[in-house]
Amino acid sequence: MPRRVCFVHYHEIGLKGKNRSTFENQLVRNLRRALRDWPVGSVRRISGHILVSLEGRDADEEVARAVSRVPGVARVSLAYVCALDSDEFSAAAVRALHEAGDFQSFKVHARRSLTTYELHTLELNRLVGSVLCGEFPDKRVDVHHPDVTVYVYVVQGCVYVYAASMPGVGGLPVGTAGKVVTLLSSGFDSPVATWMVGRRGAVCVPVHFSGRPMTADTSEWLCQDIVQALEPSGMVGRMYVVPFGERQREISLAVPQGLRIITYRRVMFAVSERIARLEGAKALVTGESLGQVASQTLDNIAAVNEMVGLPVLRPLIGSDKQEIMRRAEEIGTYDISSQSADDCCTLFMPRRPETHARMDEVHAAWDSFDHDAMIDELVEEAEYVDFDQCPSYRPPRGLRARHSSLAPIEPDRNA
Ligand code: ATP
Ligand code: MG
Repeated sequence: MPRRVCFVHYHEIGLKGKNRSTFENQLVRNLRRALRDWPVGSVRRISGHILVSLEGRDADEEVARAVSRVPGVARVSLAYVCALDSDEFSAAAVRALHEAGDFQSFKVHARRSLTTYELHTLELNRLVGSVLCGEFPDKRVDVHHPDVTVYVYVVQGCVYVYAASMPGVGGLPVGTAGKVVTLLSSGFDSPVATWMVGRRGAVCVPVHFSGRPMTADTSEWLCQDIVQALEPSGMVGRMYVVPFGERQREISLAVPQGLRIITYRRVMFAVSERIARLEGAKALVTGESLGQVASQTLDNIAAVNEMVGLPVLRPLIGSDKQEIMRRAEEIGTYDISSQSADDCCTLFMPRRPETHARMDEVHAAWDSFDHDAMIDELVEEAEYVDFDQCPSYRPPRGLRARHSSLAPIEPDRNA
């Protein structure tokens, strides 16, 4: 029986012109990392696709599922690898069609990148089609709208045959779009926002502000669980945790109640930008969605945004909560975000937050405490935890190693 490999399809990479090989090579590296728990034999580019083969065994659904979660992958098929032998690849086509589930109609779609092969695509279609018609006498051939298409792809001395594909997450390989710092809470929105920019090729460095020491560290562990849930996509290299509780208390004593949240958020943005500059990240990312809560009105977004010079990306700005929650389910962060944990957002909350802050009042509040010293101290006190899921993550040079109270948990893959 012919071997089975993962035949990986990508879309957008194909549009990248001269950069195409950079994108393809990055996808190859990311696939290797994502599959490090499997006995991967080779991951290589062939003629507009990537082939993943395992050592000593066939690729199966589980491997295909892991491949499908890697950004840049549009679809993945489990393909039979046959010799240039019409009996062998026709038999593989019969198998592939048997495995295709319920169907009434089918067609064969042959392609050749090996133009020296004696059979042309029309001949291949006819030859394999007639074998399939013999094996499946009660099914119809429909060349326009078939329920199943059997692909027969002649490339580099082999014939790859498959009939089914699993959709991939799409997007671009992580590592092709630079680095971003994402402001991560354990809520529903920011994990989804992180995943969205990661899917577009960015290496993500989450920064989480916890309420420690005024709250427990539960939110920090939930954020760590979120990063682990994102692991199959390979987008996070390091997460920073900034214990913010003590400084929030100082702010809550210094500024008018209604401006507390805006002031906390100005500090959070300033600290995140400082970390971004240390990391060489080129943008900040938040999970804000217009009008969702008091801090997400246009006035308040402006009052916080003026703190930073880097672009702030808000991939969810036009999304409804329902859409965000659906996406959270798809990417595996929903259950984690459903657990409530006090973080800095629940600490020292005013009864009536300002929804349309006036800039002069925001500035007066800002000047009522030593914000520069606070920002310096918070950057200095930031802790971090590294994850080895992202092959493109490079830690900043010169950032002295600091003991972190967090340690990565070894994910239990068999759970
Ligand atoms: P989320 O569900 O992501 O927590 P939210 O609906 O609770 O968002 P806000 O609390 O207003 O909304 O936060 C808006 C954005 O600010 C979040 O999406 C996130 O990017 C950032 N943010 C909020 N809390 C924190 C935190 N504790 N640490 C880091 N970033 C945070
Ligand atoms: Mg929140």
